[in-house]
Amino acid sequence: MIEMKNVQKLFGPHHVLKDINLSAERGKVLVIIGPSGSGKSTLLRCMNLLEMPTEGSLTVGDIRMEFHDGNKPKRDQVLTLRRQTGMVFQSYNLFPHMTVLANVMEAQVIVLKRSIEEARKRATELLRKVGLADKANAYPSQLSGGQQQRVGIARAMAVDPKVLLFDEPTSALDPELVGEVLKVIQELAAEGMTMVIVTHEMKFASQVADKVIMVDEGCIIAEGTPEEIIQNPAHERVRSFLSRIT
Ligand code: ATP
Ligand code: MG
Repeated sequence: MIEMKNVQKLFGPHHVLKDINLSAERGKVLVIIGPSGSGKSTLLRCMNLLEMPTEGSLTVGDIRMEFHDGNKPKRDQVLTLRRQTGMVFQSYNLFPHMTVLANVMEAQVIVLKRSIEEARKRATELLRKVGLADKANAYPSQLSGGQQQRVGIARAMAVDPKVLLFDEPTSALDPELVGEVLKVIQELAAEGMTMVIVTHEMKFASQVADKVIMVDEGCIIAEGTPEEIIQNPAHERVRSFLSRIT
């Protein structure tokens, strides 16, 4: 579903991603772990072109793009690729002046040109799925962080993406609210949604991941099953990272 080959990302002189090669398979969950500043968010943002790779190739679904320094892809190509993906942010990023229902309808109407009626029907279905049917007419500020993040997931799903990207979806939440969000993600995984998840929740990662990648200083330093990477890490840098965060 997603493939990156020899991807490099530089911010000015700062070489943030170094020769990234990875694939996220259809219907599977890829989890990305690694220390703060190692390049996880940048890597995720390169998957939907919120950041442009400096070099390398990116495939999302049936769209493949090549990057070379100085030649920026065309805007419509970028939008076409981005529409294959849905992104869930750490800080929810809901529209504060819109109701929950309107938040989940917005992109369907603006981007996909669905009718209001159709968008409302789909939004209602998705809110039911994340357990928030009764909050459709509330505003984001009236919801808990966990509820807002579940709206964030419903909103990301609303444009029928081929893959969902999550950047630390629970790290802004109070501990007691983490579980309800992870449960929704787990249900999506069980339904076969393709997902790439950056997380520091190692127990969750072990349960949900088909494959785990550890990033350190812009390089993928280990890749394998959750058993190989999280439960029985062979690699010294992985072990020392895990011992620091758990
Ligand atoms: P965290 O766990 O803290 O979220 P991360 O692994 O997601 O960290 P990134 O946010 O990808 O790390 O950042 C990787 C490096 O790239 C950092 O050194 C950061 O300062 C740098 N960086 C990220 N975005 C930009 C940008 N827009 N301009 C310049 N440097 C950036
Ligand atoms: Mg980050």
